[in-house]
Amino acid sequence: MKPIIGVLALQGAFREHRQALERLGTTVREVRLPEELDGLTALVIPGGESTTMIKLMAPYGFDKALPEFAKTGAAIWGTCAGAILIAQDIDGFPEQYSMKLLDMTVARNAYGRQVASFEAPIESEQLDDSFNAIFIRAPKILSVADDVEIVASYAENPIWVRKGKIMATVFHPELSNDDRIHAYFLETVAGIETIPT
Ligand code: GLN
Repeated sequence: MKPIIGVLALQGAFREHRQALERLGTTVREVRLPEELDGLTALVIPGGESTTMIKLMAPYGFDKALPEFAKTGAAIWGTCAGAILIAQDIDGFPEQYSMKLLDMTVARNAYGRQVASFEAPIESEQLDDSFNAIFIRAPKILSVADDVEIVASYAENPIWVRKGKIMATVFHPELSNDDRIHAYFLETVAGIETIPT
């Protein structure tokens, strides 16, 4: 059976993720209801506004369904607001809900007001050459547990991290018109074959 990749479509940049995943030859399902998580091999939680997503989660039942889904062993990738949603801890007040799927501490909007949005070439051993990373009011990863792999850093902070089947990026790979990080997630994290980029 062909694997299906879900993209949480409550709010934010889910269409661009869908397009990137489809360019890599996968079947994508936009997830707006908890029952649409059934049978997914992997799920992408997009960037957007984490507070808005949290507000939408409970009325639709995702506050319970997503942590249950994570226990099925599916691969999960949170980008930007999605990374905030899966973090173990969020630094700052007021306290904000998170799913605690990846042992890291993040601070929302911590790249500062003037540079709240910027682009920068980043390097990673997982990429053959640099990737133009787009940061939009990105969270900063302040620390990660020892067993969390730092796949890429920028200005001394991790920006792309992974433990097993859970991955987070604080930038927006779906906006760069470069599908290499989506290919990494599908192939290496989720174990799915793709069409070569
Ligand atoms: N600043 C947003 C938040 O705190 C994240 C921004 C993004 O996803 N591009 O949720």
